[in-house]
Amino acid sequence: MPMIDRRGFLGALAAAGAMGVMRPRAARADEKRLGVALVGIGKLTQTQLLPALKKTTACRLAALVSGHPDKARKVAAEYGLPEKNIYSYETFDRLADNPEVDIVYVVLPNAMHAEYTIRAARAGKHVYCEKPMAVSVRECEEMIAACNKAKRMLGIAYRLHFEPHNLEVARIARSKELGAIKVIEAAGCTMVGDPKQWRLDKKLSGGGSLVDIGIYALQAARYISGEEPVSVTARQSVTDPAKFKGIDETMLFELAFPSGVLASCISSYAVFLNHFTVAAEAGRFGVDPGLNYHGIRGFRSDGKPLAFPDIDQFAAEMDDFATCVRAGKPTRVPGEEGLRDVRIMEAIYRAAESGREVKLG
Ligand code: NAD
Repeated sequence: MPMIDRRGFLGALAAAGAMGVMRPRAARADEKRLGVALVGIGKLTQTQLLPALKKTTACRLAALVSGHPDKARKVAAEYGLPEKNIYSYETFDRLADNPEVDIVYVVLPNAMHAEYTIRAARAGKHVYCEKPMAVSVRECEEMIAACNKAKRMLGIAYRLHFEPHNLEVARIARSKELGAIKVIEAAGCTMVGDPKQWRLDKKLSGGGSLVDIGIYALQAARYISGEEPVSVTARQSVTDPAKFKGIDETMLFELAFPSGVLASCISSYAVFLNHFTVAAEAGRFGVDPGLNYHGIRGFRSDGKPLAFPDIDQFAAEMDDFATCVRAGKPTRVPGEEGLRDVRIMEAIYRAAESGREVKLG
């Protein structure tokens, strides 16, 4: 299966055109809509993915995998899914025998992504996996190897690669429309509630705010600049040690890019802040809020509009992945893209622990 590279991402941006709208063309009536099995019926699945699968044109809900049979039956009934297409974590591998399922979408706690991606690939299914891709570089490499071996496509659910305002910010930066960019300021923060949730358990999450929400700031710095960082510095802090045990509550990190562009990033579980701002030779532009599911707003200091219709980012990303699978063309969010972030985040943690700059190869 071909894999996308940085040039491929640039190509995707160019193809988005001035409108930047990422919904693929509606599937022709004679084209089969690919079947998606959702693994995990948690908050994201229930509030975003299931409703989005009612809007998708290239794929549809085909199965549910859950450890809670009652919940699964209730959701299946609500979405018109036959009970035979409900699986448990124990019967998961029997997905191999279900031709209605083409894509397995892993929506589980981060430390479970690798196992279910690898099992899905072995069952002969293409895999779409939530961010962060996994909790270590080694796991990411194993996931990529498993999908390559099974000749199945692997995509990481980076929904902002399909969000028109974010795509336009990247286009302005890379085309130098407002001159060469100099500095990026990116904030990916949210307030985490329930102290008992898996996000605060390092064994299941692999880290704190950085791997969960700060990853959007890291992503933005990379797709806006179009470059890979050569070094990182970082500092972390915890103001509520009873709640944040062994994980980062707030992480400030800086990325240095080969061109000399610097990105100053904030990741936090303690505040609501999310914006990506770019300072260039001839002005500023960006998005604020930058990573919400809806209501993203763009701005340009020259007064020109940076505004697009609101889209369902989840429907857009699932349709794009299904379209890529069907056409046998690379996804713009392959496993390699998830691996790059996990490698950089490991470096950010090393930088925060050592207080030193960490170079990236
Ligand atoms: P959630 O806690 O609401 O749901 C997790 C699901 O995993 C539940 O169905 C739960 O039953 C199941 N599960 C199985 N084994 C579990 C275990 N040992 N402990 C806890 N839960 C277990 O979480 P969520 O918010 O739906 O997040 C799921 C994934 O989606 C995460 O990887 C997260 O990073 C990602 N996510 C992405 C976005 C996005 O915008 N792309 C938004 C939210 C979450």
